[in-house]
Amino acid sequence: MGSFSRVFNGLIKLKDSALILKTGKQCASYATASKPLTQLSEDELLMKESVSKLAVTEILPKVRKMEDEEKIDEGVLSSLFANGLMGVEIEEEYGGSGCSFMSSIIVVEELAKVDPAVTVLVDIQNTLINSLFRKLGTPQQKQTYLPKLAQNTVGSFCLSEASSGSDAFSLKTTATQDGDDYIINGAKMWISNSDLADVFLVMANANPSAGYRGITTFIVDRNTPGLSIGKKEKKLGMSASGTCMVYFDNVRVPKNNILGEFGKGYIYAASFLNEGRIGIGAQMVGLAQGCLDATIKYTLERKQFGQEIFAFQSMKHDIAKIVTEIEAARLLVYNAARKVEAGEPFIQEASMAKYFSSEVAQKTTVKCIDWMGGVGFTRDYLQEKFYRDVKIGTIYEGTTNMQLETIAKYIRKQYS
Ligand SMILES: Cc1cc2nc3c(=O)[nH]c(=O)nc-3n(C[C@H](O)[C@H](O)[C@H](O)COP(=O)(O)OP(=O)(O)OC[C@H]3O[C@@H](n4cnc5c(N)ncnc54)[C@H](O)[C@@H]3O)c2cc1C
Repeated sequence: MGSFSRVFNGLIKLKDSALILKTGKQCASYATASKPLTQLSEDELLMKESVSKLAVTEILPKVRKMEDEEKIDEGVLSSLFANGLMGVEIEEEYGGSGCSFMSSIIVVEELAKVDPAVTVLVDIQNTLINSLFRKLGTPQQKQTYLPKLAQNTVGSFCLSEASSGSDAFSLKTTATQDGDDYIINGAKMWISNSDLADVFLVMANANPSAGYRGITTFIVDRNTPGLSIGKKEKKLGMSASGTCMVYFDNVRVPKNNILGEFGKGYIYAASFLNEGRIGIGAQMVGLAQGCLDATIKYTLERKQFGQEIFAFQSMKHDIAKIVTEIEAARLLVYNAARKVEAGEPFIQEASMAKYFSSEVAQKTTVKCIDWMGGVGFTRDYLQEKFYRDVKIGTIYEGTTNMQLETIAKYIRKQYS
């Protein structure tokens, strides 16, 4: 076996020249097989172009109205369903678009360039709700819910509670068996899209004596007696996306409404949120890109001291740094998504993508407002909205600290 040895200056020196020849041949074949991460397939490219067109023609004119009214416009919602964007990965036999995970990521990125609030809806539906039903549902559950989710029904993911956020599995909502039914009691907090949702995936503890191993996932329809929705939270950003408390007061569901296996809810929540985080990464990359696209145009038009403001060295260097960071974030997101599709381990990559993209997006929106000067601080431009919307990226689906915990856990494993 050819060996590498470390030389004193820290470089790596190859001892066995036969290995060079062997490796050389392999390199040649890899070079033809591998593609740049950002090179999209024909289907992915088509999806990107059509979503971008839809975002500009149908969503952009309604962004401010949706924010002011704190709700998603009905026409926008219908259009998302009609264009297959609420069921990107749902198989065609259930009325979905039958596309890839990467396509969902591209959809989220493109929509976020125009309105990040709309992507809270699209991202959670595709990366969490539909995914949980597709991968864990019984044939009957899939038959009942997937066609609706693809065509007209919004779903909400109910994990967080007032006393359990980062420490999600200390949740207090219970599900008590009563014959062939379970009775759910408790309150979920911060539930996105619950103002619109007709189906809720609820993490409740059905065996508290087993600790978090009692957590089980229940499907609960909106019209089930005892389920009620609280008022919308008044938020810093993402205002069109409804975030409410969801209350469960003796909500009776048949045991057939358990999704997946009894007591595996904590595993499902953790693993599906890992994929969800790549979606949040895409949301943050799209948001950063949308904000930047709007701003660069301005810096090329605005003149001070007789020249475009883009041309000042400190401006263009600052812009070059941000553009590079956005591209780095996009590569992390795409790499994590490609790993999911290849069936490779991706948890560390998903956390890195979510952590880095949300930090870069924050930095981008701050810089964009600086580059716009005074007008960037007004509501005449969308930069101030991007600046408010971006803040949630470091909080939901696992805070930045929690992502760093995950990344550090894998670093320790790698070096132990
Ligand atoms: C707009 C919005 C939408 C949301 N949508 C949903 C949804 O649809 N469904 C859902 O279930 N939840 C949802 N959430 C909840 C969201 O996932 C939680 O807010 C998030 O996980 C953080 O929990 P927390 O708010 O309780 O903060 P806490 O967990 O109390 O954290 C507060 C601070 O303490 C830090 N911290 C906590 N523990 C540690 C630790 N071990 N090490 C280092 N630092 C730590 C955190 O990083 C953070 O900085 C949403 C939240 C918001 C604001």
